[in-house]
Amino acid sequence: MTRVPHLSSRLQGFGTTIFAEMTALALRTQAINLGQGFPDTDGPPEVAQAAQAAIAAGHNQYPPVPGIPSLRAAIARHQKRFWDLEVDPDSEVLVTAGATEALAASMLALCEIGDEVIVFDPTYDCYGAGIAMAGAVVKGVLLQPPATGEGRYTFDPAELRLAFSAKTRLLLLNSPHNPTGKVFTPTELALIAELCCEHDVIAITDEVYEHLVFTGEHVPLASLPGMAERTVTLSSAGKTFSFTGWKIGWAVGPADLITAIRTAKQFLTFVNGAPFQHAVAVGLDLGDDYFDSFQATLLAKRDLLADYLRQAGFRVLLPEGTYFVTADSSPFYETLELHSGLEFCLRLPELAGVVAVPSQVFYQNAADGSSLVRFCFAKQDDVLDAAGERLVGALAPST
Ligand code: PMP
Ligand code: GLN
Repeated sequence: MTRVPHLSSRLQGFGTTIFAEMTALALRTQAINLGQGFPDTDGPPEVAQAAQAAIAAGHNQYPPVPGIPSLRAAIARHQKRFWDLEVDPDSEVLVTAGATEALAASMLALCEIGDEVIVFDPTYDCYGAGIAMAGAVVKGVLLQPPATGEGRYTFDPAELRLAFSAKTRLLLLNSPHNPTGKVFTPTELALIAELCCEHDVIAITDEVYEHLVFTGEHVPLASLPGMAERTVTLSSAGKTFSFTGWKIGWAVGPADLITAIRTAKQFLTFVNGAPFQHAVAVGLDLGDDYFDSFQATLLAKRDLLADYLRQAGFRVLLPEGTYFVTADSSPFYETLELHSGLEFCLRLPELAGVVAVPSQVFYQNAADGSSLVRFCFAKQDDVLDAAGERLVGALAPST
């Protein structure tokens, strides 16, 4: 392997994240950025005001390592209110620097060198890096897109069963899933739970899109029989409250697992975002109207962008959740003389003034997602209209 100077062997192969790269491309070409997943409007004003008030009130020094008590209590109330999960705010909740830190701290705290971590492939980009930093090994189970039409992503139960071995330490689940938009069904979750129990494996579930489910329902893995004592549930205020820059996330789970994760977390960031912790506590207690309208607004945006993509000539893989839609870019390869979604995304700013992310970067084996591209629809309607019109104008076969 060619060694990139200075980078440790554990991180060889991890370059700049695709999100930073595509956002830089959008800025350079002045294209509409539907690549990196962030909303282009702020979240609820009362939550922003709560952050300002917390700064004015002097909540500006280190908060306690587990997170401020009012936020931990609000997280516990949220788990009860939405998912009927009983959580002790003192021993079973840890506030983190986004879900990203919760993921890294979980890997570092729970894995021995060489332990295997089962993931559904593709994965959000920091999973592979977190597993690598912990010296553990990724064991991927492929999510297959529907071969034709717009059906769901599925996995082969036999492949999942085979992925488990004596070396398996963790299973990392993300539902709703980035980048595919898959929402794991109760039947799929039941199999995952059964195998985790049978092999005494700990589950880490990334539920940052828990409030963005459009088809089916969000079922936390921790709510399945036998799973509460072996599941750590992660989430983040970034997606639910549209404040991705605040980086307030959390881990919820049995006290012994949370204690282990806290041990690693103390030496990563120690603590973060004192005033924002106060504000997120306010956000989690917002009424159902906030959560309902957030979901309904994003659903309408999903359908708006998906329609444009279809008109432009893509095969659209309609997401069941998240704020990303995947499209198959292969219909354009012949006319544009391209061979992959990566080449397509690199040409798209010049062709249509739009940036998307090539899904292949999320796969263990790029070939598995080679024709797929991901668009983020957490944007204002006029931005989606402008992007959609550009895509249709540049790509739709002229009649
Ligand atoms: N997990 C998934 C699936 C994501 O899409 C993201 C991006 N928000 C994260 C984790 C990271 O969350 P945060 O910004 O809170 O670190
Ligand atoms: N979660 C966001 C995405 O999937 C990006 C977050 C980041 O840039 N690290 O696009």
